[in-house]
Amino acid sequence: MEKPEVFDFEKLITAGEVDCACGQKHSTEIKILAVGRGVIEELPGALKKLNVRRPMIVSGPFSFEAVGKKVCETLDKAGIVYSVFVFQRNGSKKIQPNEKAVAEIVKNFDRACDVLLCVGSGSVGDVCKAAATELNVPQLTVGSAPSMDGYTSASASLELNNTKATVSVNAPEGVICDVELMAQAPMRLLWAGLGDMAAKTCSLCEWEMASVIMGEHYCPDTADLVKLCCKRSLSGAPGIPERSLDSVQAVIEGLLLSGVCMSYVNSSRPASGLEHYFSHCWEMMAIARGQEYDLHGIYVGIGAVITLSIFKKLRQLRPDRAHAEKAAAAFDRDAWEARLRSVFKGTAESFIALEDTLQKNDGKKRMQRVDRILENWDKLVKIMEKAPDPDELEATLKRSGMPTRASEIGLCADDVADAFVCSRDTRDKYLTSSLIWDIGYMDEFEAFVKELA
Ligand SMILES: [Zn+2]
Ligand SMILES: [Zn+2]
Repeated sequence: MEKPEVFDFEKLITAGEVDCACGQKHSTEIKILAVGRGVIEELPGALKKLNVRRPMIVSGPFSFEAVGKKVCETLDKAGIVYSVFVFQRNGSKKIQPNEKAVAEIVKNFDRACDVLLCVGSGSVGDVCKAAATELNVPQLTVGSAPSMDGYTSASASLELNNTKATVSVNAPEGVICDVELMAQAPMRLLWAGLGDMAAKTCSLCEWEMASVIMGEHYCPDTADLVKLCCKRSLSGAPGIPERSLDSVQAVIEGLLLSGVCMSYVNSSRPASGLEHYFSHCWEMMAIARGQEYDLHGIYVGIGAVITLSIFKKLRQLRPDRAHAEKAAAAFDRDAWEARLRSVFKGTAESFIALEDTLQKNDGKKRMQRVDRILENWDKLVKIMEKAPDPDELEATLKRSGMPTRASEIGLCADDVADAFVCSRDTRDKYLTSSLIWDIGYMDEFEAFVKELA
């Protein structure tokens, strides 16, 4: 497990603005990124560097036990005064990242404090980001698990109005990830981090495909960096069952740098594509059914295996204009609305309304995209060929012990089909499912993904 020089975080984040060959200037707002064994000791120095004196620790009950107490100890030893807010234990249930949780932090925030010190990972991190933004205080995060790549991001995934939404927030100014503490996280959270990184095997291709079809900005250098992150994280898979510190470090380094890459290009494109939409859809479907949903990274890992299988099948295809035209003429608006309503219940209305702005179902616009797809088909196939074989990714993930199929986590073939078919309707990103719909092969691929459950 060699460690490339690119993971010199200090160098990366102090590089300032980089003039890139892609035409953009890349930079990151993050000031502190500390990863390694025992780096919790750097916490007092980090607070000083951020020019803050008194932290308000915010944590969940499990993270506080596992990591928060060590944080308190470190602050005590340095003579730093602090306040603490820990979310109440709610049986074995996770913290719901919703407006109520954000309001709870805001209400309990000790106004004598000048920095929000988040101790946690996904959900707690998201509500902390939203609360710190509302309170207008900086945030420093001490990570509790290598479970997702959002530690450094300026967005939070929150449950709003009975659905899951991504909102813009201030990014934390620093992140400290002590791998000795993180290695003790629940095994499912370690798996989730691998799953979130598995996404990059397909998201990078989809990003490049979208640049060909939709003219989106694409940065080859950033893509190369994300590819390295992905390799680094997945190299940790075999050591995860025994919680090897080297493996945990490999996973979290890849996750953190992948987060930095997203801020380089100001877009989630390098790190998130169709595989993430399986996750978004399954979360929203669970909320609509009043059920608990699984971890983001677990869903994403399973979505990545499916997406790579879709690439593999799609590469064999020879799309043609007549077939696409026939599909465009047969588009049934009522059936489309009905499907969204049956899958997402009340939330469907916002997706239906989104169509007024996007007009992606408009026949003329669809055929314009089809023409670009057909003109560039060989190029698109070449891009998809850069992705690994689904079996290869699945075998790597399996070595960590994590689930790789939807059926292993209680999802059925219809759940996979619904998420696939509706993925293109939930946001404004052009996905591989959008392409498949455009060229008129949705039914064939729906049947195909069902088989993969
Ligand atoms: Zn660039
Ligand atoms: Zn993710």
